[in-house]
Amino acid sequence: MTVEMSATNSAIPGSDLTVVAQALHEEVAGSGLVPPAETGPTAHRLAALARIYGNAPFVPLEQARHELGVDRAGFERLLELFTRIPALRAAVENGPSGRYWTNTVLGLERAGVFDAVLARKPTFPHLVGLYPGPTCMFRCHFCVRVTGARYQASSLAGGNEMFASVIDEVPAGNRDAMYVSGGLEPLTNPGLGALVSRAAGRGFRIVLYTNSFALTEQKLKGEQGLWDLHAIRTSLYGLTDEEYQATTGKQGSFTRVRANLARFQQLRAEREAPIRLGLSYIVLPGRAGRLSALVDFIAELNEAAPDRPLDYINLREDYSGRPDGKLSPDERAELQDELNRFREKAAQRTPTLHVDYGYALHSLMMGTDVQLVRIRPETMRPTAHPQVSVQVDLLGDVYLYREAAFPGLAGADRYRIGTVGPDTTLTEVVETFVTSGATVTPQAEDEYFLDGFDQAVTARLNQMETDIADGWGERRGFLR
Ligand code: SF4
Repeated sequence: MTVEMSATNSAIPGSDLTVVAQALHEEVAGSGLVPPAETGPTAHRLAALARIYGNAPFVPLEQARHELGVDRAGFERLLELFTRIPALRAAVENGPSGRYWTNTVLGLERAGVFDAVLARKPTFPHLVGLYPGPTCMFRCHFCVRVTGARYQASSLAGGNEMFASVIDEVPAGNRDAMYVSGGLEPLTNPGLGALVSRAAGRGFRIVLYTNSFALTEQKLKGEQGLWDLHAIRTSLYGLTDEEYQATTGKQGSFTRVRANLARFQQLRAEREAPIRLGLSYIVLPGRAGRLSALVDFIAELNEAAPDRPLDYINLREDYSGRPDGKLSPDERAELQDELNRFREKAAQRTPTLHVDYGYALHSLMMGTDVQLVRIRPETMRPTAHPQVSVQVDLLGDVYLYREAAFPGLAGADRYRIGTVGPDTTLTEVVETFVTSGATVTPQAEDEYFLDGFDQAVTARLNQMETDIADGWGERRGFLR
């Protein structure tokens, strides 16, 4: 077994640490950092370290050091060696929890935004969520939205002017600095196409998160700017009208979404439009067995435009952590089988489809059931992380967490840090919040305002803060 192969395996449960460590011997011996007699134990500890961080990315360094039973000098040496052996880094990134590293942490590290948060530097948010939808045609049972809550149609004109000013304000350089989502359904805003064109004109790649109920041919004709999107990611709520109705409360909605997506595929093929099309599918309780039908659905969509098949799908578990979204242990075992069947079938029927299994499902497929990061009110950060991301709704209100920006949501106004308007820029809103030293004291159930991204960011910041307090400032956060 090569160093690369065996070390890359070291974060996989069941892989033999001794075998992995043996493969590392040569590299450790060649480093000159450890005496020959220490080579074996050091290689073993390096493999164990990869296993720890491949499974639990947000462990503080002191905790890892205690688990390995080494003193601080020895641990420092281990960390130094770790950085010199690329296969170990790959092992962490490919571990059961590797998606936390690759999907979220490492990109933000490269941008330096975690350091800005900890230093309380008022930088412009790295990611800005634009939530332009005044309403939504669905009533999803898991949606936090207050039934019937919407923004007044009279807010649209002023709201769209405000969004245009935010788009103009976002610094160039990070092409993925903005996305369009909700809140409510973005396509219910008739000015969306113009906003997308404006952003694309400045070089931004905008991804639209939508339920695609309103993504009709007529809409696409009337709002040509939608063709300037970088990608459309459709949340799929079932695979039959009955499933859709059970989830969204709307009759016949699957038939319509399917028709919209198929037509969209034909239109983008005809126009040779570079826009990407993806799906997001949450495996709800009772629906693990539907994954095979999901491949059939995608294959059927692809028949609408064989030369432009669907680009990607993101499979997710319900990330909210609410008890009614949880799968039973039996169903989790079933889900593991179904996911592997899905992978095989997708490779055959939809070979070009990119599948992202997210933090949790990726680990489940690898045979572990790692605990998802779960932030609680006591581990929420009173200063949050506006330098990493904020969300702006149709009224210009700026929210700290992704699930807080819904109209009329009880308690969410505590996470509103200001309002963008004719006399106030987003830069000023964030700057005022950060420099004033304002804090939000979390209350019970506030953790539901955080989505999976917010949770990972919070866990990372807490970890870094602990490492720094423990005297590991130079090494804080393990990988970066
Ligand atoms: S989850 Fe999305 S599509 Fe469903 S009701 Fe809420 S805003 Fe609408």
